[in-house]
Amino acid sequence: MPSVYIKTYGCQMNERDSEQVASQLVAKGYSLAPSEAMADVILLNTCSVRDAAEQKALNKMENIAAETRRSRPDVVLGFMGCMAQSRGRELIDRLPDVDLVIGTQKFHHAPDYLDDILAGRRKRIVDVAEEAGSQSTIRDHLLNGNGHKAVSAFVSIMQGCNQYCTFCIVPYTRGAERSRPIEDIVAECRELAARGVKEVTLLGQIVTSYGKREIGMKDGKSAFVQLLEAVHEIDGLERIRFTSPHPKGYGDDLVQAYSRLPKLVESAHIPVQSGSDRMLKAMHRGYTRKRFVSIIEKLREVNPRMGVTTDIIVGFPGEAEADFEETLSLAREAQFDNAFIFKYSPRRDTPAAILPDQLPQEIKEERNARLLQLVNEIGARKYRACVGQRVQILAEGPSRKNPARMMGRTRSNKIVVFDGSERHRGQIMDVNVTRAGSFTLYGDPAIINLD
Ligand code: SAM
Repeated sequence: MPSVYIKTYGCQMNERDSEQVASQLVAKGYSLAPSEAMADVILLNTCSVRDAAEQKALNKMENIAAETRRSRPDVVLGFMGCMAQSRGRELIDRLPDVDLVIGTQKFHHAPDYLDDILAGRRKRIVDVAEEAGSQSTIRDHLLNGNGHKAVSAFVSIMQGCNQYCTFCIVPYTRGAERSRPIEDIVAECRELAARGVKEVTLLGQIVTSYGKREIGMKDGKSAFVQLLEAVHEIDGLERIRFTSPHPKGYGDDLVQAYSRLPKLVESAHIPVQSGSDRMLKAMHRGYTRKRFVSIIEKLREVNPRMGVTTDIIVGFPGEAEADFEETLSLAREAQFDNAFIFKYSPRRDTPAAILPDQLPQEIKEERNARLLQLVNEIGARKYRACVGQRVQILAEGPSRKNPARMMGRTRSNKIVVFDGSERHRGQIMDVNVTRAGSFTLYGDPAIINLD
């Protein structure tokens, strides 16, 4: 059987989609190649959120095509995901060596399409159509892809986005919001727990919009909170996370869920995008700075250890120095544990791309650097404050930077590196934090288990 190499760009949803394709291919007998040089099929799962991500994937495919067409002309090349969705056939016009283009509602067809191409039944396939029910097709897992059992898994609960932020391409690449039924998600999580998974991260573009149309409110609880409650019941699951919520959907029912549901860890990644109400309005975000700050205050009241992270865009069209200073002051006020900063990138078909007053790259770079410095200072202080504390971690496996050591995450989503071994994998354990590095903690297991 052929071997496949999948390279993933972008967010956790893309990682999850790649895992779906990989697990279906493995079930058919394909093997997973460790690198593109060894693969019979090379798939790039793409991201469109910023132009840089698109250019990276395009350049990568150009290089792969040049290389493989010379030495291994039978290798099948494909684009999947968001850029495949937004550019479709245009990708083949630009890169004629590409055999397959699969949109965001069509991942589950990848194995059949590859069979057809490999068997010579079809030469080229482009499928970027909508497909009813496609939100329920991202449900298979590859839990021991690297020879070890995974202890943490992503679970896709919905697809699409209805928010239409003026900067964002996602509603055009992922379609309208469509949610999976609670029972299907619970069944998937239950099976994961039976296979040894201790932690699930529920995924959606805006998880707080989960089931709004299909399920609705019940006893004052949103469909998303109902889902959290149902997943919380599963024996063997120890931790629940989710990403990303929208501040608009962060109601008191969700805030209170943190105190009622002990498996819901004290961590919240809430994209704010700007500290300026003028910019939030122009971005069509649907909340004010005050509302955002009040959510964080409530979360920290529920649990003072709450880890709060965010996404921020700098250099949105028309962002004046005063608006940017509002963002700096929000970062100081909110005291984020970490923030992902993005330089605004005009995206095709989005309203912001044609706004007057697009800012020059130098201003975006300069604001990015200033905000990054502040975020790093605040983050460093917060991480230093953990030194001397005992924290609970879930040990995930070897540290990526130093595979001789193990790593886990605190409930508030901070990475902790410690001296340990494979026997720690999957354990919930207490660690004494001895040192803080750059967005990493170092610690010693609180109880030395000599078994
Ligand atoms: N759905 C989430 C939300 O907005 O609440 C975030 C999803 S998006 C994949 C991740 C981040 O990319 C966004 O939060 C935003 O900060 C950033 N982003 C989206 N569009 C962008 C653009 N045109 N330019 C720069 N950054 C962008």
